Amino acid sequence: MKLVPGSIKGRLLLWLFSFASLLLIALGFFLYNKIGDIVISSVDDILHSQTQLIVGLLHEEDGGINLELSEVISGEYSIPRSGHYYKVLINGEPAAISHSLVSSEFNLASGKIVSGDEKLGEKIYLSVGPDNEPLRVLQHDLDFMGQPVSIFTAESLRESLSMINRFRYFLFIIIPLSILTGGLVSLWITKKSLDPLSIFSSKIETITHKTLNERIETEAEARELIGIASSFNKMLERLQSAFDAEKRLIADASHELKTPLSVIKTKCDVLLQKDRTTDEYTAALNTIRHTSDTMKKIVEDMLSLARLDSGILSSGSFQMIPIKNILEKAVQLAGVLAGKTGVKINPRFRDAEDMDITGDQNTLTEAFLNVIENAVRYNKPGGAVDVALSKNRGHITVMIKDTGSGIRRDDMDRIFDRFYRSDVSRSVEGSGLGLSIAKAIIEAHNGGIKAESEAGHGSCFTIILPA
Ligand code: ADP
Repeated sequence: MKLVPGSIKGRLLLWLFSFASLLLIALGFFLYNKIGDIVISSVDDILHSQTQLIVGLLHEEDGGINLELSEVISGEYSIPRSGHYYKVLINGEPAAISHSLVSSEFNLASGKIVSGDEKLGEKIYLSVGPDNEPLRVLQHDLDFMGQPVSIFTAESLRESLSMINRFRYFLFIIIPLSILTGGLVSLWITKKSLDPLSIFSSKIETITHKTLNERIETEAEARELIGIASSFNKMLERLQSAFDAEKRLIADASHELKTPLSVIKTKCDVLLQKDRTTDEYTAALNTIRHTSDTMKKIVEDMLSLARLDSGILSSGSFQMIPIKNILEKAVQLAGVLAGKTGVKINPRFRDAEDMDITGDQNTLTEAFLNVIENAVRYNKPGGAVDVALSKNRGHITVMIKDTGSGIRRDDMDRIFDRFYRSDVSRSVEGSGLGLSIAKAIIEAHNGGIKAESEAGHGSCFTIILPA
């Protein structure tokens, strides 16, 4: 069984209730003991003052001890069973007994000794008086004129005990009542304190994927919720931009695929209109195949991006690889395209010292290939691409420089966006995803990529990776 409730409300209530109950019970015990002590010590004070009065009345007369008790015999000490008693023994013989004691033989010094002081010659008994009444008795022994004198004063505890009992009953009622009231008050306080949380959660519940632009008010009713509200709003912002990016990607992808699909459909429609010559069929099928290749490339690039977005690259699967090997492979693969377009790739890293990076060989090769192929594709016939490698303070820098068309200033900020293609590059085949993929791969390796270019004078892409 679970002892601590699962809800915050339950926990707060439990703590508040337990604390208040313990406090009240402890207070009750303390008050009960304190009142008992006060009542008993006030009885002891009476006994002491009566004893002192009797001691003061002892005096010498005719060589013997005389006890002038006219001051104490009146009042309560003269009424039988009044609950106020005294007895004086001189040399062990009764010298004076209050009229209130019905039997002069009654032994006040019986019962249990509860305290005493030998030096002062005092003992206090809990005794039982006439009619079985509880008594508190003070015995005071002294030596007067060389003779032993014992003075007993006694007070009935009936009144005092019943007062203590009445107080106990009062506590028995008042403490559970206070605990009950405390419980109800705790319930109210916890409910009131947690109300802002319910308002907050009901506001969150209204947010759906369609209303991601809504925000939770940061002037929340409780100060503690302001931080949560602003974190939640930041999360909404991130979700909204991710959703918007997804929507843009789908819109761009369908747009990019629509054109080649229409080309294929139109080609088929034209072919089906009438009988064609073998050459015409061959030319049309070649166009269809080429367009399908373009579509295949778009779909493959989209899949690569989707995989990268899903976090397929994790440092757990990374290995130590010499960067030279990766660049050599990328240059070799780009060489096919370079050969077709008459662009020369200059690998300026052959003499570079051995440099290792931690990463995924295949995706890094893909990233460098995308950048090098761009440098070839957006180049002029007979142009050149330099691939250089350097190491600086724990970082490896790869520079891919071309003598191509360059990138216009307006396009510069957008070339790494998904599906972005500058108008001037439309004549060259491409999906608009190559640089986005390269950037995602480099960033997954904790690196960075930037471009510098001057339209008409070529571009330079710098990739920095941790060594
Ligand atoms: P794609 O090359 O398939 O169009 P990319 O994402 O690789 O897609 O490139 C985006 C755009 O950046 C290109 O369309 C082109 O306009 C520009 N670009 C990239 N690299 C170069 C380069 N080396 N020289 C000139 N323009 C470039």
